[in-house]
Amino acid sequence: MVVQTERDDMTWFKCEHCGLMFDDQGDARQHEKNCDSEEPSYIQ
Ligand SMILES: [Zn+2]
Repeated sequence: MVVQTERDDMTWFKCEHCGLMFDDQGDARQHEKNCDSEEPSYIQ
């Protein structure tokens, strides 16, 4: 999930899974889709 946070009078979008921060919500969401930490990769 992408969370919005404000720092230094700027709005940032942070990937909850790995902590990466983006200044663009689109970039954050794009990253989230590809974030390896999003869910366990164990498929049975
Ligand atoms: Zn991430």
